[in-house]
Amino acid sequence: MADIDIRIDGKIGRITLNRPKALNALTYDMIRAIENTLDTWANDDRVALILIDAIGDKAFCAGGDIQEMYATASAGNFEYGRQFWRDEYRMNAKLANFPKPYIALMQGFTMGGGVGVSCHGSHRVVCENSQIAMPECGIGLVPDVGGSMLLAQAPGRLGEYLGATGTRMKAGDAIYCGFADYYIPREKWAELTTRLVETGDHTQVDAMAQTPPESGLQAQQQQIDNAFGGETVNDILNGFDDSAWCATAAEALGRGCPLSVATAIALVHRVRGFTSIEQVLKQEFRFTYRSASDGDFVEGIRAAIIDKDRNPKWKIPTLRDVRDIDVTKMLMPLGEHELKLEENRMIIGFIGLGNMGGPMARNLVGAGHKVVGFDVTGVTIQGVAPAATAALAATGADLVITMLPNGEILRSVADEVIPAMKSGACLIDCSTVDVESARAVADQASAAGLLAVDAPVSGGIGGAEAGTLTFMAGGSAAAFAVAEPMFDIMGQKSVHCGDSGAGQAAKICNNMILGATMIVTCEAFALADKLGLDRQKMFDVVSTSSGYSWSMNAYCPAPGVGPTSPSDNDYKPGFAAALMLKDLNLAQQAAESADAATPLGQHARDMYEAFVEDGQGNMDFSAMLPYLAKKTHET
Ligand code: NAD
Repeated sequence: MADIDIRIDGKIGRITLNRPKALNALTYDMIRAIENTLDTWANDDRVALILIDAIGDKAFCAGGDIQEMYATASAGNFEYGRQFWRDEYRMNAKLANFPKPYIALMQGFTMGGGVGVSCHGSHRVVCENSQIAMPECGIGLVPDVGGSMLLAQAPGRLGEYLGATGTRMKAGDAIYCGFADYYIPREKWAELTTRLVETGDHTQVDAMAQTPPESGLQAQQQQIDNAFGGETVNDILNGFDDSAWCATAAEALGRGCPLSVATAIALVHRVRGFTSIEQVLKQEFRFTYRSASDGDFVEGIRAAIIDKDRNPKWKIPTLRDVRDIDVTKMLMPLGEHELKLEENRMIIGFIGLGNMGGPMARNLVGAGHKVVGFDVTGVTIQGVAPAATAALAATGADLVITMLPNGEILRSVADEVIPAMKSGACLIDCSTVDVESARAVADQASAAGLLAVDAPVSGGIGGAEAGTLTFMAGGSAAAFAVAEPMFDIMGQKSVHCGDSGAGQAAKICNNMILGATMIVTCEAFALADKLGLDRQKMFDVVSTSSGYSWSMNAYCPAPGVGPTSPSDNDYKPGFAAALMLKDLNLAQQAAESADAATPLGQHARDMYEAFVEDGQGNMDFSAMLPYLAKKTHET
């Protein structure tokens, strides 16, 4: 018998995994066969539902077959693995969207790739010996096959815990965590199968389900939530107390590949806001695509499966050594190599190709969209078709994105592009502007039969280049739904803040905090200098202490300290001080009209005004450090 047995049996389609000696691990051919079957049976009236099961007691499916991946990747050929994952993930997405009931019987181990062919189904059945896990971090991968989505949807912080430690879920746990739905003892499965074959009626599963055993993980929920609430793995480790439970959790974290564990946490956080499996698979693919070339996948397999010495030499040896930038690099967009699951090429007009707009447009091209760009400077961006005017860039576009210096320019560009846009298209303004301009442009767009979103961003040029911006959006739910897939390409998070103008309101509040924290961070460095405290030492302390902030940790204003930032490039912007002053002015304007007290915001505004008047408006806003360093206590 072949590795996989696919047939129509009575009223149902049946897929049986048949590699029990290999714990039914999925080969490339099995994956392709399952995908073809899903395509065929979706429209085959003879098939009322699909039942997937597996031969043997030990495992439903222990994962993907990684022998061939190891052989090719260790010889420097990374394309085999990438193609394997591309095709596997496409199959996972088809399974998750399958239009008929999909029933999976999961005895013994269901892990990694096994989760991908079962847990996205509509009826997931476990029994007394079921053990489900996403243990990929142990071999230098991250939870994939859409598993990070299931983890993200698990209660509380269980997703972070299960994904980073690879902990196995028993039947009751799997149901509690959302990886399974029904508990039916194994001895009843033959009868269940017969009933399904005879009736084609999925409610037979409900009829035979029994009360599941209690979940041990549910009992630990509080501890897990307390211990795994941190933003990064180092936050999590820092928060561990000296209990035996935390010691065991730390040990489990320490067993995985450090880069994978840190990324798994970030991945679960990132996909928690996603609404479709396609978005999730694209994020996972960014890591798996790089896992052999830039990560530890080859070494992970060698230590666990080939040599079985359980002594991997990870590129980043401990969790404490993993920096945020290491994780970011593994999850950065892949440009033309991004996972493409569907043909949904959009035509996008992009207006304002400056420090932010340029790389944002490039990422949209990388994701397969056609981008037509315009900037008054005539600057061109690789892959972006240049247009002679803003109106021409907008003509025929499904979406028009603007990334402009201020509200006045936005209003004049809107006057030009709105009449040129086709009915039903969406105007997305990502510039930081005043709330009134955002609302006026949205009203104008809506009067012309267009959708509109104000979606200013946070994350700076680094975020624009890496595709890790945060978008704060205002507009109707329909407009946000159209814009969201673009935010997923250009960023890692988008928040629908409310109606038109709400995105700008959020941005203004955020940047008031940023302006003030940057000034105080610069002040602290200037003070440290005068106290004879080494800048690097101060960074080492503050970046992991209560004074930490984005200004310190991600955009350190001191050259040569922390991750690369504009301070390392002679304070070339980055984010120009004049733009920061603009944002602080917007915040004060808003505070005045809303009658809100913002004394520190006002003071930050005054300081940036003095800085700009000093002729430094075109310097990065972090150049406040050399400016302050020259001053004395009196001045
Ligand atoms: P930028 O000055 O580098 O880019 C703006 C671009 O718009 C320029 O290339 C300019 O030539 C072009 N432009 C001006 N008028 C135009 C017109 N009428 N038609 C077409 N193009 C025109 O500025 P940036 O740093 O890319 O910032 C853009 C927006 O993003 C601003 O609103 C800023 O506040 C916001 N922002 C910037 C950062 C950052 O770190 N740079 C971060 C978050 C938000």
